[in-house]
Amino acid sequence: MKDINLVFPSLAPAESIVITMHQKPDPDAMGSSLALFHFLKNAGFNTIVISPTNWADFLSWMPGMDEVVDYESERSKANLIVEEADWIFCLDFNNMSRTRFMEQCLLQSKAKKVLIDHHREPQVDVFDYGISDISKSSTSEMVYDFIISSGKAELINKEIASSIYAGVMADTGSFRFASTTASVHTMVAHLKGFNIDHAKIHSAVYDNFQENRLRFIGHVLTHRMEILYEHNTALIAIPKSDTQKFHIKTGDTEGLVNYPLSIQGIEMAALLIDRDDERKWSFRSKEHFDCNTFARKYFNGGGHYNASGGRSVESLEENIAQFKKVLKEFSSLQQ
Ligand code: 5GP
Ligand code: MN
Repeated sequence: MKDINLVFPSLAPAESIVITMHQKPDPDAMGSSLALFHFLKNAGFNTIVISPTNWADFLSWMPGMDEVVDYESERSKANLIVEEADWIFCLDFNNMSRTRFMEQCLLQSKAKKVLIDHHREPQVDVFDYGISDISKSSTSEMVYDFIISSGKAELINKEIASSIYAGVMADTGSFRFASTTASVHTMVAHLKGFNIDHAKIHSAVYDNFQENRLRFIGHVLTHRMEILYEHNTALIAIPKSDTQKFHIKTGDTEGLVNYPLSIQGIEMAALLIDRDDERKWSFRSKEHFDCNTFARKYFNGGGHYNASGGRSVESLEENIAQFKKVLKEFSSLQQ
């Protein structure tokens, strides 16, 4: 993987650029992609954003959202765009499998592939250029760095600043996590200079749900949360009947995994959701539980030290049993 700084000077005006991100994009994946999209467009390049799947309603306010192509619902159009691309920017994921049904067409594409990401253990062999830096708060911050290094900071506008702000805000837990470095605050001070409304952005992302979602959270915290005090761990396992009953849609379960961490003594929280074709895991920890290794080792996933995800085709019950078994094993390995 060649240096990211070689990319901007190599882009030619006639070339077509695709930007993509991980499936079920969160504010960082979508924010970084849209920020890069507006920047490259402002710089005169022919650029398009493709999301591997649909996205949550709380992203719909983002500038440029109406131009994003959803791979799942517009597959033939998206395949053509990818086939004809000269460059593909891959944002906020470390492994092509994170793009789900888009993986094959990305791997087959002859375009030069650029990685910008902050997850552990990237699949470097499939990218031609890029940067992977786990010390970064967010991919949005890395897109900001990319823009500054390009020497074209004058192209930053309110759309770019708002998109970056949303991504950094979400990935730092609203500027709370250890990853919120002094340079994050310096960057935010710069972004504020573009007249962004940070309170409105916070509300658009976090106060934008329907009543059913809050009732669903009440239900699952009451009936589906198990506390494993001997392991300082909490597990929430949600059967399909719950998501159906409460009409849960993409994005409604975002943030749910964090609730048990507010219980004194709980150091790790796991969330298991029964989706149509797979069971989806989310892991979060405070301090010394390595969620990345845990997800990678037992649940076909990965991510960061304190936040990771995984998946399995086994049933909900088998996953719960497996989780309890491996938690014991993993805890003894970590001691
Ligand atoms: P979430 O629990 O929000 O889905 O994901 C938490 C973190 O882990 C995110 O940074 C996400 O990119 C990463 N992650 C989630 N699922 C997977 C997965 O299946 N594989 C890998 N490698 N990372 C994942
Ligand atoms: Mn991210």
